[in-house]
Amino acid sequence: MTFLAPLRQAAQPFDSLAAEVPPRRIHLSPPHLTGHEAAALQGVLDSGWVAPAGPAIAAFESAIAAATGFPHVLATASGTAALHLAFRVLDIVPGDEVWAPGFTFIASVAPAVQMGAVPRFLDVDPASWTLDPDLLRAELRAAARRGRLPRVVVAVDIYGQATDIDAILAACDHWSVPVVSDSAEGLGASIRGRHAGRGARVAALSFNGNKIVTAGGGGALVSDDPVLVARARHLANQAKDPAPHYQHSATGHAYAMPSLLAAVGTAQLAALDRRVAARRALFHRYADALSDLPGITLMPEAPWGMTTRWLTALLVDPARFGTDRDTLREGLDAAGIESRPVWKPLPDQPVFRDAPRAGGAVASALFARGLCLPSGTGMAEADQDRVIAAIRGACRA
Ligand SMILES: *Cc1c(COP(=O)(O)O)cnc(C)c1O
Repeated sequence: MTFLAPLRQAAQPFDSLAAEVPPRRIHLSPPHLTGHEAAALQGVLDSGWVAPAGPAIAAFESAIAAATGFPHVLATASGTAALHLAFRVLDIVPGDEVWAPGFTFIASVAPAVQMGAVPRFLDVDPASWTLDPDLLRAELRAAARRGRLPRVVVAVDIYGQATDIDAILAACDHWSVPVVSDSAEGLGASIRGRHAGRGARVAALSFNGNKIVTAGGGGALVSDDPVLVARARHLANQAKDPAPHYQHSATGHAYAMPSLLAAVGTAQLAALDRRVAARRALFHRYADALSDLPGITLMPEAPWGMTTRWLTALLVDPARFGTDRDTLREGLDAAGIESRPVWKPLPDQPVFRDAPRAGGAVASALFARGLCLPSGTGMAEADQDRVIAAIRGACRA
């Protein structure tokens, strides 16, 4: 009001002022509330169980088990915390090699690196954008010949697409190398009828605000192995030994999920199937409206599973589209539309410039051309139409 008043005094007609108001900004993947979160929070407050233990946590862990089929679940303060706990229960020690696809978010390996592990980055398969099992098999054979197998292989689900975990496990089981599945982006995805990540020694989920469902922050460590999850639970709660006083045989973490977040997460998880269907419908609407454009290719769906299309990602061939990815992104930004380049490969990150790697041409090519589009399930059709029109308008072919 204070800055509008002088404008009015200058006799500027209100209509022309309104016309200058930019259209509402469209974000990449904002939280989509169900309407049941407030009641769930109130329930926890009324019960008094706001500590990071108690019935809201147990209910959330049961809901995660039901949604994913993983029988043992530990709710954590973040997906990154779940990954850290996974590396701890697999007993990573300084100098161990941890292998991961280069095409991912840094949290896939950051906790292992902080524990002193050496990351080694492998390329991804262009048909799925996930870890290439053939390359992994060849690299494991070569590592065995060198006498230096990785301590852990991390498989990563990308933009809702599950890694072919069966192929990864077949390669790793031969050398008894445990597999961690970073399924932070895989919640709700399936592979051959099972939930993403099933079969890995341990998997990590994320309920961060941008994920397909959110607890307002948080994650989960999930596994078939009750002993491993019990150890992670002990470490997540400061590694307190059973004793009336504070007694510790190891150092732990403050990684337990607060009850209030668990209540929000339970309300959100009830909508997971609907959210998956809605993300897939958004993707198909983009595909129908954009695939006739020269030089535009949407992320493929791998034949082994069902992707959630957590984020719709596409590749821009500048020679055919007439505009490159960065110019397209800047144009969308100017039109009030948030988009993001796909993951910059970790071996190209300054922090990992000296890390060993195997291949990487596929990940680099994806990064050169890939863009993630607004994919929030709360997005109105008219807003998606704005995104589509802006992309079509940027084509110079
Ligand atoms: C989001 C994400 C994480 C981390 O989850 P947080 O809950 O944000 O800590 C890890 N890996 C990948 C691939 C992610 O996308």
